[in-house]
Amino acid sequence: MKKLLLIATGGTIACRETENGLSPALGGAELLDFVPALRTFCTVDVRDLMQLDSTDLTAADRLAIAQAVRQNADRYDGFVIAHGTDTLSYTAALLCHLLTDLTKPVVLTGSMLPMGAPDSDAPRNLLDACRVAADRRAGVVAVLCGKILAGNRVVKYHSTEIDAFVSAGVPPLGAVGTDGKVRWDVPAAPPAPTAPSALDPHVLLVKLTPDLDPTFFAALHGYPKVILETFGAGGVPARLEKAVRALIESGTRVYITSQCIAGGVHLHHYAVGRRAEAMGAVSLGSRTTEDALAAVMCGEV
Ligand code: ASP
Repeated sequence: MKKLLLIATGGTIACRETENGLSPALGGAELLDFVPALRTFCTVDVRDLMQLDSTDLTAADRLAIAQAVRQNADRYDGFVIAHGTDTLSYTAALLCHLLTDLTKPVVLTGSMLPMGAPDSDAPRNLLDACRVAADRRAGVVAVLCGKILAGNRVVKYHSTEIDAFVSAGVPPLGAVGTDGKVRWDVPAAPPAPTAPSALDPHVLLVKLTPDLDPTFFAALHGYPKVILETFGAGGVPARLEKAVRALIESGTRVYITSQCIAGGVHLHHYAVGRRAEAMGAVSLGSRTTEDALAAVMCGEV
């Protein structure tokens, strides 16, 4: 029997209807009551860490989740984090960095419909997540709708469908069949020797639009780190060149990511990209926006 820890944080999976709309109300033990099949392969302890819509989560909450895992790392075979789906990708990406040295499975899951609602995806997702957490493979993943997604590749692309997540740029790591079998399609990566112990949440993401007003950048002078989410393979438009250069000269570190969810940044391809390189902007490569934020927050780039 594998020994798992369920860390409950709220989200739709824990929601009940209130006069103000859906709001998290169920704790971890109540969630487990809906999934008796778990008892055949694992025991699950519960840590009710918070009860929030994931819209309300901040870096401090995500650090608390990482700490709850780390403090219990020796006592459990694996960890399941029940989480709202709206910002699950941000938590998954950040945990990939904060727990990169962990030798245990860390599995995030949630649901698009509350536990107990007709046709809810919640029981299957929680059961599948526990199956993956009991499967011994180290690393941070998300398990949703039968798919096992690398934590740093998770993207929520649909706001209402049950099958709401994709793996950006790479195939899913594996799947959990309707028979409950866990299948891995990609070999495991070994844990890293060390992980960052702190993060700086002062990272601003600016999405370029064709008509973004260059005067906007003056308000950012001196802000520690700014990620420009640019078009396609990446670049800075000529009409923003002076403004972005002045921002970098003000002491702000400027990074480049792409609005495309796959393929990444290639600053060398186009003159607009070389313009960004020449002014000292740093490419974030093929990272998702969420992973780019996490990497910059953790000071890894
Ligand atoms: N608003 C909810 C949340 O992110 C949505 C969900 O869990 O599906 O907490």
